[in-house]
Amino acid sequence: MTPEISISERLDAVRARIAAAAAAAGRPADEVTLVAVSKTHPPGAVAEALAGGQAIFGESRVQEARAKIPLVPGRARWHFIGHLQKNKIRHALPLFELLHGVDSLELARDIDRVAGETGAFPRILLEVNVAGEGTKFGFTPEQLRGQMEDVLALDRLNVDGLMCIPPPQPREEMARPFFSALRECRDRLQAEFGVPLPQLSMGMSGDFGAAIAEGATLVRVGSAIFGPRSGRTWKPTAENFDD
Ligand SMILES: *Cc1c(COP(=O)(O)O)cnc(C)c1O
Repeated sequence: MTPEISISERLDAVRARIAAAAAAAGRPADEVTLVAVSKTHPPGAVAEALAGGQAIFGESRVQEARAKIPLVPGRARWHFIGHLQKNKIRHALPLFELLHGVDSLELARDIDRVAGETGAFPRILLEVNVAGEGTKFGFTPEQLRGQMEDVLALDRLNVDGLMCIPPPQPREEMARPFFSALRECRDRLQAEFGVPLPQLSMGMSGDFGAAIAEGATLVRVGSAIFGPRSGRTWKPTAENFDD
């Protein structure tokens, strides 16, 4: 039987792989921020990663995050990495310091409006559908070019950069063209609209090395840190709520 590998050992291994990928690309390792994706995992797993020195955690469902975040001791920082539904914006804004997956002008407008009502100035990343898949969320690069002016006019929003979730590939190297497409999309938008878009959120457990080679500044890594996801979402038990 293989001995159980702890979360902090897995974290160390992921950090070492990030450092190696950055070094291979001639980039300083501190240009790449690790977002530990804790969706479906209990608060205790987050606490273990926090104790192992991890600062930032990613969640993709507002309801799960609302239940989990108060149960995590210490000061974890949280990023929202999922598809944000309009009716969840009000709950999401106070919980998350960065919204990774803003995938339409309509959603950006809704976030801006709610932020105006609550006094927030949300930091966001715009999700680009780099693979051109019809069913996926996100702006196509052409759409984003056409709508960027309107997004930038939303004065509550700070657009920090772009994000993508390319389809899984049989080999990691095959993901590189999607990641380079996101970087090139960012470079064009920066030049055309004269705005800094420093953040590129790209790369997950299976392909973060390739993403770092193409310029990722935020990698969203779940299963390589917390192990495989068994259930759908984490839910609090009655005992968690007896106060
Ligand atoms: C779940 C998820 C991840 C993490 O996936 P792993 O393959 O477990 O690393 C990253 N990004 C998004 C948007 C996700 O939903």
